[in-house]
Amino acid sequence: LLRGDSVKTDKSQKLFEKAKKLMPGGVNSPVRAFKSVGATPVFIKKGQGSHIWDEDGNEYIDYVLSWGPLILGHSHPQVVEAIKKQAQLGTSFGACTELEVKMAEKIIEAVPSIEVVRMVNSGTEATMSAIRLARGYTGRDIIVKFEGCYHGHSDSLLIKAGSGALTFGMPDSKGVTNEIAKDTIIARYNDIKMVEDIFKVYGENIAGVIVEPVAGNMGTVLPDEEFLKGLREITTKYGALLIFDEVMTGFRVSYSGAQGFYNVMPDITTLGKIIGGGLPVGAYGGREEIMRLVSPDGPVYQAGTLSGNPLAMTAGFETLKILSETSNIYEELDKKAEKLCKGLKESMVQNGIDVTINRIGSMMCMFFNKDEVKDYDSALKSNTVMYAAYFREMLKRGVYLPPSQFETFFLSMAHTEEDIEKTIEASFEVAKIISKQ
Ligand code: PMP
Repeated sequence: LLRGDSVKTDKSQKLFEKAKKLMPGGVNSPVRAFKSVGATPVFIKKGQGSHIWDEDGNEYIDYVLSWGPLILGHSHPQVVEAIKKQAQLGTSFGACTELEVKMAEKIIEAVPSIEVVRMVNSGTEATMSAIRLARGYTGRDIIVKFEGCYHGHSDSLLIKAGSGALTFGMPDSKGVTNEIAKDTIIARYNDIKMVEDIFKVYGENIAGVIVEPVAGNMGTVLPDEEFLKGLREITTKYGALLIFDEVMTGFRVSYSGAQGFYNVMPDITTLGKIIGGGLPVGAYGGREEIMRLVSPDGPVYQAGTLSGNPLAMTAGFETLKILSETSNIYEELDKKAEKLCKGLKESMVQNGIDVTINRIGSMMCMFFNKDEVKDYDSALKSNTVMYAAYFREMLKRGVYLPPSQFETFFLSMAHTEEDIEKTIEASFEVAKIISKQ
């Protein structure tokens, strides 16, 4: 895998030239354009287990895993088989299916605070619907969100968001009206005092607080124990709802999500990624009393032509089934991730490069930053130029990392000891190179 500089990428480059004429930035989602790491994107042809192959035939160890969904790795045979079988029976009915019932049951069994759940098609839809529900339930308008947390691209939530928006230095998007932005208040992650102060002034008008219980969209940032507990106490005190956006952390941090891991229960939870097993999916759920407000039971409207799509339900259900039936899966992921991070850190330390690695289970981020990273401001102090160089050199050596400093690395069940060792080996080589730049 250590291929050095002689990698051929002609086909990807040609495709990208064509793609740029046909799509904004040549992509269907901004970070894929590799803009912030100054590289040309490789076009992916196939994935198997922990590896992906591009159109030029280059092979990579994949630490993006479609941005989190593929906790079992690419093309898990059981998931593929189930999708094939379902496709032969029909791909969409826009009508009730047993698959939806099985999926709802599986989610409610796993996620402690969810009593009733509604399936949607993306994380964006899930969070958008969750805040509508919080507003409908409380009769209030204001939503509190945290700087650097990304909850998809719906208007009210695209304010000081992480991921692409952060990378491109566009904390706000054009096209979001001031009218909408004024109903979103931004607080600092891990700063419970600031949340208290906001509630002292606006408490009576706050519908809910939405938070990534582990932030994964400004790189990986862990919550202080007191932060999540504090959010629970303050929202309860003021009659606002607490929304955990577990699109990334759900079934990732543990089978019961971040809420199970930290034992803090939100009122509404949003899910996505893993519960779709690599197909487009999202969900939101919570206490029955709240969820009964959703149409057709109640007055908060939300719908979807493809919601509960049979293929997505099948891929998701099989994925959750495997996760629930494989013993020690989260312990194994944790061990592998620990080994990876130890090696990556060592590669930097030995070459005199400042690095801070944040990790929980199989989600992690290597910040080129000498200080602790615990919020958006400290994340922004990272050396993005160095990350970009690291990314490009690792890519040449067959390691596919997130194409931005402010994203999370993921591991899957399919990653082997050999993958980890090769990645560390590559990191040592690359650290030597970038330390001299
Ligand atoms: N919430 C979180 C925490 C996310 O990480 C993401 C996607 N990275 C979203 C919401 C949006 O999900 P989607 O891209 O499926 O719309």
